[in-house]
Amino acid sequence: METKGTLYIVATPIGNLGDITLRAVETLKSVDVIAAEDTRHTAKLLSHLDIHKEVVSFHEHSSEREAERLLGMLEDGRSMALVSDAGMPMISDPGYVLVRKAIDADVPVTVLPGPSAAAAAVAVSGIDCRQFLFAGFLPSKQVQRRRELVRLAAADMPIVLYESPNRVLDLLEDISAVIDPETPVSVARELTKIHEEVLRGHCDDVLSELSAREMLKGEYVIIADAHRNIREMEDDELREALAGFIAEGMSRKAAVDFAASLYGVPKKRVYKISLDMGM
Ligand code: SAM
Repeated sequence: METKGTLYIVATPIGNLGDITLRAVETLKSVDVIAAEDTRHTAKLLSHLDIHKEVVSFHEHSSEREAERLLGMLEDGRSMALVSDAGMPMISDPGYVLVRKAIDADVPVTVLPGPSAAAAAVAVSGIDCRQFLFAGFLPSKQVQRRRELVRLAAADMPIVLYESPNRVLDLLEDISAVIDPETPVSVARELTKIHEEVLRGHCDDVLSELSAREMLKGEYVIIADAHRNIREMEDDELREALAGFIAEGMSRKAAVDFAASLYGVPKKRVYKISLDMGM
């Protein structure tokens, strides 16, 4: 019987190329093929490491057929390293489909740990993260994002979030509005890079500091020490939430029930607000 190749899940640097591990270098040198989220991006890393290998593409939008093709290579005995553009594959990055297929096909799967922005941001945050909730990117629509924040805050532990520079202010506004303006936060940007910076403080203070900047650049990890600090919602905020849920297609009853359980507000109060709104 033919021996199957091993799938190596390999973490790569999140900025500073010096953070590649010795095992990662050895493995990238020794495998038959490298499956990369973005082949051009990975080509730069490989060229820095003087590694010349076959690189195939495997990303979020790869088809089922493509995943099957890569699985076929493993089943034919070829060893493969799976990398994403930065950090650990599968942490807000592609890879799951291939790893799941490999596991189901009894292909050996192993992992080479290394950099990940979440772990780095937790370590440098100054927030007690003995337990934390990693939630990655929240939805881009405000109503959904706020709803998700309330749900996450109920877990009673710091929430670790990824965000792009063009939405980081919106996210901090949401944390202030839904949880509390005084929520302790740590906003880490450009970790391991030249412009690495960590802003720590109350959410509204960090928000003012970032808002005053002409331009927001880089990559951000936001940690909100939410605990069970969800503040009492004002009537107009409940009105806004109800209107959002209705706009999403919920019936009035569903929207009232949902808002009441989400914000921990008596159903009677939300129902009355919905009546005042003429719903
Ligand atoms: N797989 C990666 C990991 O293990 O961290 C995450 C990939 S995700 C597509 C990219 C997001 O990670 C960025 O939008 C940012 O939130 C965060 N990130 C990546 N590199 C970072 C860095 N050097 N500093 C701060 N955040 C970073």
